[in-house]
Amino acid sequence: MTPTPQPLDPALERLVRTMPKAELHIHIEGSLEPELIFALAERNGVALPYPDVEALRAAYAFTDLQSFLDIYYAGASVLLTEQDFFDLAWAYFERAHADASCMPSSSSTRRPTPRAASPSRPCSTASSAPAARPRRAGASARG
Ligand SMILES: [Zn+2]
Repeated sequence: MTPTPQPLDPALERLVRTMPKAELHIHIEGSLEPELIFALAERNGVALPYPDVEALRAAYAFTDLQSFLDIYYAGASVLLTEQDFFDLAWAYFERAHADASCMPSSSSTRRPTPRAASPSRPCSTASSAPAARPRRAGASARG
């Protein structure tokens, strides 16, 4: 039986959210959020095995490797174009920036995004201002 996560004390959650962090390693496909999966599925004409964002989000409470892989492959099935990876990377960079993360390195098993485009700060600077989104970005998955 999987233990149920307990909510954090609000002060502790605030501390955790604002403390500096370093992202040491990420598989970018694994950073897909349900909203972006559905937006990319619609843009690319891909049918998903989940009726809506809420059902997909509920499935993120996976219980074993196969239930994790089902979600991972459903997400990977919508990543078809360079623009999809750009939008995926940008959504990740925005979350990482909001989460006070810096990026000493990154990796992807597929197409990398130029670091110059990242709004996440490098670990060696204290700047908290995000970079402007590059012009190359196309249709945003966010309404
Ligand atoms: Zn890895």
